[in-house]
Order: sequence, then C-alpha cells, then structure tokens
Amino acid sequence: MTHQLPPLPFSANDLDPAISSVTIGLHYGKHHQAYLNNLNNLIVGTPFENISLEAIIAKAPAGPIFNNAAQVFNHTFYFDQFKAQGKAKKRPENELLKAIEKSFGSYDKFVEAFSTSAATLFGSGWAWLIREQDGSLVITQESNAGCPLAKQQKPILTCDVWEHAYYMDYQNRRADYIKAFWDILDWAVIESRYRK
Ligand code: MN
Repeated sequence: MTHQLPPLPFSANDLDPAISSVTIGLHYGKHHQAYLNNLNNLIVGTPFENISLEAIIAKAPAGPIFNNAAQVFNHTFYFDQFKAQGKAKKRPENELLKAIEKSFGSYDKFVEAFSTSAATLFGSGWAWLIREQDGSLVITQESNAGCPLAKQQKPILTCDVWEHAYYMDYQNRRADYIKAFWDILDWAVIESRYRK
C-alpha cells in the first residue's frame, strides 16, 4: 500500500501573512512529502506494508518507520485545520466552547495556556489539544515525532513548532508565529474533531 500526500484545504498563499506561500511550499511540498516518501520506502517488505497509517503509529517500535509515519499523520492533521482568512470559523462554539470553558476557564485563558505550551517546548516538536474520554480537554507537548495516537489519545488541535514551520517567516521569533497561528485556524474543523 502506498500512502498518498493529501491535498491542502487551502491555496498556498491563502494563509499569508500568518504563514507565507514560501513556508507552505517548503513545509508541505518538501518536508511533508519527504516524510511520506521515506515512509513508503521504509515499509516495503515489512509487517507495516499493508496496514493503515494509524495502525503503523500504534504498532511500530521507536525508529524510522514510527518517526516518518507519525510525522505524516501530524502534518496532515496540522494542515487540515487551517483555512483562508475570511473563510474560516474564527471562534469555537457550542459543545467545544463549553468544554474549553470548563477545562481552562475561558477561551482566552485556553489560548494563553496553549500558546505558552507551544512557546516553551524545548527544541522540535508539537503542542496538542487532547480530548479525554469524559469530554474534558488537556494540553500536551510532544518532542520530535511524538504523536498522541501512540498513547491512545484523541487529538483535536496541534501546533507544529519545528523550526521549519516558522523560520522562513519569523526567523527565531517562535512566539510571533504562535500568535499568528490563531488567525488561520478553522474552528469548524476542530469542532468536528471534538464531536467524532
Ligand atoms: Mn513540520
């Protein structure tokens, strides 16, 4: 089975100025594509050749197959949550908003807590919002290719803080990238992940 690069739900320049078309071209066109190519090459002739991406992440031991599979999942999950400014649902509502308020006090306090988690993650990795079994929400940090699926957690939002996600646009100013990140999220997508 050959894993495929899913199309982006936006055009390359739709997220500008939060994320430039140059960054999208490199991040999606080069980095995401490379993780996918590596995965497809690595699984040939292994027990992981004909199982789903999610099954690979759940079953593969630490190493190159896990790392590339997790990075493919993480990047698809990341890009799928963005939409052109003006077309995105700007704020969470209903069930998800209630869960955010219950878990963090308010939407603004949640944004602050998630931003701090993304900003303070040392080195390369991902900040995640996880839906617990009881519907409550927690923020986690994962280094490198860390992926909630490997811990049987249900992710609903992520921020990629590898330098390749922001260095072309923000250089060392990770906090500015995280601030702009909130402008391009489509909360309709995140609400639908929460409901599933
Ligand atoms: Mn990345």
